[in-house]
Amino acid sequence: MKFEFQPIGIIHSCFKEKFGIPRQPGLVAEASATLELLSPYNRPEAVRGIEQFSHLWILFIFHGCLRSQWKPTVRPPRLGGNERIGVFASRATYRPNPIGISPIKLERVEKTVNSVILHLKGVDLLDGTPVVDIKPYIPYADNISEATAGFAESPPPRKQTITFSADAARRCIEMSESHPNLRTMIEQLLQSDPRPAYKGEEAGRVYGMRLWDFDLQWQVTGDLVEVLALVDATSG
Ligand code: SAH
Repeated sequence: MKFEFQPIGIIHSCFKEKFGIPRQPGLVAEASATLELLSPYNRPEAVRGIEQFSHLWILFIFHGCLRSQWKPTVRPPRLGGNERIGVFASRATYRPNPIGISPIKLERVEKTVNSVILHLKGVDLLDGTPVVDIKPYIPYADNISEATAGFAESPPPRKQTITFSADAARRCIEMSESHPNLRTMIEQLLQSDPRPAYKGEEAGRVYGMRLWDFDLQWQVTGDLVEVLALVDATSG
């Protein structure tokens, strides 16, 4: 059997590269994105009633991880990155069918005659992600209070202290008009420690990731994270 799907929408998010994206939705509550429905699905009646739901299941394609070969085991970051587990016992992005699923907060819906844009919060989605389906999250069925989850039982540990250099703090304020809550978003992002698990500590190393049109640069010393700079990535 073979199936062919057309994307029904596309994600516009602050995450321009895979490195640094939260490993699950909700970990960075302030990470916002929009989901733009594509023609012919961009009809207001296709989302009639959707505002009644606070959260949606977004089904999408890991378009940044397409690979013709698949492996039966993967190394999830939660196991330190060096223990293998079955691909179907993981949420790894490289899978036989590159389908992702995230329950995401719906902030608001923007509709015109021929456009539909869903405003989302707490995303773990790369910019440009093709969306293949949307379904409402239904708490009575989807929130399973007695569920257990082995190695992923509790959320990943968080870094406690995030500090900002004077320059980084100033840039957050300067950009607050186009990016409200930017500082909080960066704090949430770095608390989750996006560095690869298996690399271990590298003293003095400066890490960087692209957010919108700037590079976020930071350094980690034990449990302390210092945001060094937000560097314009469009010039030069
Ligand atoms: N909640 C989803 C995704 C979990 S993996 C699921 O369980 O299916 C989350 C990681 O997917 C992120 O850290 C990011 O690196 C990666 N990711 C997000 N969107 C992607 C895309 N379009 N292509 C490739 N990787 C993506």
